[in-house]
Amino acid sequence: MAGRLAASGRKVALIERKLIGGTCVNVGCTPTKTLVASAYAAHLARRGAEFGVTVGPVGIDFPAVMARKNQVVGKSRSGLETWLEGMANCTIIRGHARFLSPTTVQVGDGALEAERIFINVGGRAVIPDFPGRAQVRTLTNTTLLELDALPRRLVVVGGSYVGLEFAQVFRRLGAEVTVVEKAARLVSREDEEVSDAIREILEAEGIEIRLASECIRFEPRGAEIAVGVDCMSGEPEVIGSHVLLAVGRRPNTDDLGLEAAGVEVDAHGYIVVDETLKTSVPHIWALGDCNGRGAFTHTSYNDFEIAAANLIDGAQRKVSDRISVYALYVDPPLGRVGLTEAEARAKGHAIRIGRRPMTRVGRAVEKGETKGFMKVVVDRDSDAILGAAILGVGGDEAIHGVIEAMGAGVTASAYARVMAIHPTISELVPTIFGELSP
Ligand SMILES: Cc1cc2nc3c(=O)[nH]c(=O)nc-3n(C[C@H](O)[C@H](O)[C@H](O)COP(=O)(O)OP(=O)(O)OC[C@H]3O[C@@H](n4cnc5c(N)ncnc54)[C@H](O)[C@@H]3O)c2cc1C
Repeated sequence: MAGRLAASGRKVALIERKLIGGTCVNVGCTPTKTLVASAYAAHLARRGAEFGVTVGPVGIDFPAVMARKNQVVGKSRSGLETWLEGMANCTIIRGHARFLSPTTVQVGDGALEAERIFINVGGRAVIPDFPGRAQVRTLTNTTLLELDALPRRLVVVGGSYVGLEFAQVFRRLGAEVTVVEKAARLVSREDEEVSDAIREILEAEGIEIRLASECIRFEPRGAEIAVGVDCMSGEPEVIGSHVLLAVGRRPNTDDLGLEAAGVEVDAHGYIVVDETLKTSVPHIWALGDCNGRGAFTHTSYNDFEIAAANLIDGAQRKVSDRISVYALYVDPPLGRVGLTEAEARAKGHAIRIGRRPMTRVGRAVEKGETKGFMKVVVDRDSDAILGAAILGVGGDEAIHGVIEAMGAGVTASAYARVMAIHPTISELVPTIFGELSP
């Protein structure tokens, strides 16, 4: 946003209180995907014999894993800093920003006046008030990424996107890992068969999964932490040397002085925006995680594209024009677009389903990575593609065929006629669209 505004000749101040690049670059996407790559390398090395490759005992040099992560993150952040520092019409101001009025923002001892203001403050990990939490040391995504030694036994509280990525990474790096989830299944917004398949994949790697954990509580136990799990059945507690809380995120809107600007927030602290991402004050926009309209880097980036196109190019883009897309970077990854089967049914669609296990995808067999499946959901009446899930090797990339097709309004029968490259994971997607349930 700063780049586009500055390039259009406007004078821009970019205020950052901590690290340029925000969550994604520093404590989100970039460090986690760098660790996912190290964990995958370890996993594949352990499987070497299956491919006829002889390797010695596989060891993990945890400080080297973290150093690689820091190097990738540092390079990404410094690239952004160099770009912004050299940008004409743009000044970076370091410090915490707070509204004094609808047009004035205070940073340190200074105050800035602006005709237009873009709020892009992101969010942070929720730390719920579980019983006993104050008596023990818990970690968030930020502090877990700062460890200098591998946890011996990691308990991950929260079996959703952030928690599961960390669980598998630390398991593959050598920690014992338990995932404690309050709901009856993992990633409960996905279709049940997706949740079940992910659970099987993680359990097969030796991750212990405790579902329906209604009674999460903490207690110091010597140098370790006892995590209370269940009041009704199973072992009532699990012991960890470290505990990660990955139970959701909250917007960084409580210390922004929004009341002084007259900017409305909802009951959860998200800034209320209209379809063009304007707040209740017409010259103030809210972009990214803080507006509650998305929780991903691509939704934040798309918010910028919408606001910039409308303001600078005179376009009429709306946030409701986009289709929900995301990936879960367990290995194999889950790529997702649009509605799940359950969501499509709940919305009243008559649907047709296409499904194929990865054991019947040639490229996956050749790679020796046959876990997971592909699934598509199609509207029976209109032949419109409603959604898809690809849980399998390359699923985060292969899903893009469906994403682009949905974006362009391609029907299922038109997709079925597309010729794809052999051998790829994606080549079976047209086949699935050609073999839908009646
Ligand atoms: C562990 C983890 C893994 C993730 N992995 C992925 C992934 O693989 N793919 C994906 O798409 N998304 C992922 N995400 C989500 C993604 O990081 C966020 O959706 C994205 O960073 C949101 O961008 P943003 O611009 O809204 O805010 P942020 O990136 O959070 O940036 C907000 C910035 O505002 C600053 N700030 C806040 N308040 C103030 C203030 N008052 N004054 C000055 N500065 C302030 C903050 O310091 C921060 O730098 C992940 C998140 C986590 C936690």
